[in-house]
Amino acid sequence: MKGTPIATVILEDESLRDGLQFEQKILTLEEKLSLFRLLAAAGVKRLQVGSFVHPKVVPQMADTEEFIRAVRDETSGVFITALVLNDKGLERALRCGLGHLSMSSSASNSHSLKNVKRTADEAFASLLELIRQAVGSGLQVRAGIQCAFGCVYEGAVAEDRVIEMAGRLAATGANELNLADTTGMANPLQVRRLVAKTRKAIPHLPISIHLHDTRGLGLANMLAAHEEGVTIFDVSAGGLGGCPFVKGASGNVAAEDAVNLFEQIGVETGVDLKALCKVVDHYEALLGRRLPGRMNRVIKSQAIACE
Ligand SMILES: [Zn+2]
Repeated sequence: MKGTPIATVILEDESLRDGLQFEQKILTLEEKLSLFRLLAAAGVKRLQVGSFVHPKVVPQMADTEEFIRAVRDETSGVFITALVLNDKGLERALRCGLGHLSMSSSASNSHSLKNVKRTADEAFASLLELIRQAVGSGLQVRAGIQCAFGCVYEGAVAEDRVIEMAGRLAATGANELNLADTTGMANPLQVRRLVAKTRKAIPHLPISIHLHDTRGLGLANMLAAHEEGVTIFDVSAGGLGGCPFVKGASGNVAAEDAVNLFEQIGVETGVDLKALCKVVDHYEALLGRRLPGRMNRVIKSQAIACE
């Protein structure tokens, strides 16, 4: 019987990278591996597991190579990626045999200067070169634009600038474009508009969205992007994330809340919500605090109500 094809989306969990990167407590390799295995067991198909940055700058990510070597052989059905920001990072990624990388730079000059101490134009020129190198080495690359929806230092970011960057990134041979709301400033109308413009300008590449829930609009923005045709979303188990140096910063949209949103509107994620909540429990136990995602609490309260 022919029916309407079942709509699906891909959730890329970034709790092990964007979620953990500024966490004060450094998790051991074993602790990270246990989180990874729980995420994979819950059905998460894409995982950004670390970044190849200087260990002095981000100590939490110092074991990214070891981590990738450890999981390389147990990742059937799971797509592993990591963040690379410079030549050294690319060398390290190549050495541990990773097949896919995420690379990005900022649309905002002030953000770029604070984050990587280079102007946005300088950082973008290096990014284009780095992606060409990675693609030339046979890697798949997701090319990202940070602060695509605004910047805490500069306010609005011109959409034409984002579209121009997207076009140049697409020309490098990257496999996917990622629009990032790095500081959580996007609103649903803006998300719809920018996604539509980007899809029109670059129809041949999939677009993914990286949303931070800083102002509570994460799920609304996710739905807006989905209604505009986006099917790949970055999430973080428990909503883990945030930066201690930026007041009010918060993590990506909670993975469990995204799974619930899509379940409620009949879109498959392939992720088991209850199993995902076990990951959130594990994070909370390891970090010794409650994470902001909602569905873990909802599921627990329902279990108590049924007892
Ligand atoms: Zn982020």
